[in-house]
Amino acid sequence: MTTLTTSHDQALLTAPHWGDPVATLRGVTKIYYKPDGSVLVEALGGVDLDIPQGQYLAIMGASGSGKSTLMNLLGCLDRPTAGTYALQGQPVAELDDESLSHMRGRKIGFIFQAFNLISQLTIEENVETPLLYQGISRTARRKRAIEALELVGLGDRLGHRPSQLSGGQQQRAAIARALAAEPVILMADEPTGNLDSATGEAILKLFDDLHAKGMTIIMVTHDDSVAQRCERVLWMRDGLIESDVIHRHKTPGGSG
Ligand code: ADP
Ligand code: MG
Repeated sequence: MTTLTTSHDQALLTAPHWGDPVATLRGVTKIYYKPDGSVLVEALGGVDLDIPQGQYLAIMGASGSGKSTLMNLLGCLDRPTAGTYALQGQPVAELDDESLSHMRGRKIGFIFQAFNLISQLTIEENVETPLLYQGISRTARRKRAIEALELVGLGDRLGHRPSQLSGGQQQRAAIARALAAEPVILMADEPTGNLDSATGEAILKLFDDLHAKGMTIIMVTHDDSVAQRCERVLWMRDGLIESDVIHRHKTPGGSG
């Protein structure tokens, strides 16, 4: 690991395994084809990318530049047309659908602009349910769900239904659901897009805290002030990374 000298980097140094590669893309392309087999669009044109453990990364770029396509690949929702993707050293590109979805369930936590909570379930059940598919026991599921909800400040709302919570609380519940799976990467697509600015700020503060604890976070955002809180900002353009800026001495917690 590189020697870091400023006090700003202390939290990064203490984070677990900080700097080990978590995601490695080489020559990744994604082509969407027309029904007749001809090329409709080359959504990614050969992306090389290394994401170290513990990094807080923003992906920006105009509409149609390939942000969602890149997120979908990183999040194991889709496979590249060509090139390689290793997630914690495990090759993803060749996995069949079942293995891909298993990998996704074990390693990726998703947070969307729409909270996607199930309205008939309590908050605790919403957080617990995805863990069913990981073969985790009932007791352990419940324990993890409660811990995750306490972490996001909803420990006193376990029995509430989504409709009984504010937008900010619902997004916290969605974050708890993502965290309960103990993911390797937390992926957020415009996580504050449906929130007013004060509530959005509280959610971003939560991301800062998670980053300070060593979580790897990848976030798509259109908001420059949101991206500036991240350690690294990728700009996509026409399916390629146009710029890749690392704020070297960014403090987890945002005060630097
Ligand atoms: P962004 O998220 O930056 O707006 P996308 O990754 O969604 O960009 O899209 C990149 C390009 O790929 C665009 O030209 C888009 O129209 C195209 N595209 C995305 N998804 C599909 C799809 N499922 N089928 C065909 N073309 C797609
Ligand atoms: Mg998109």
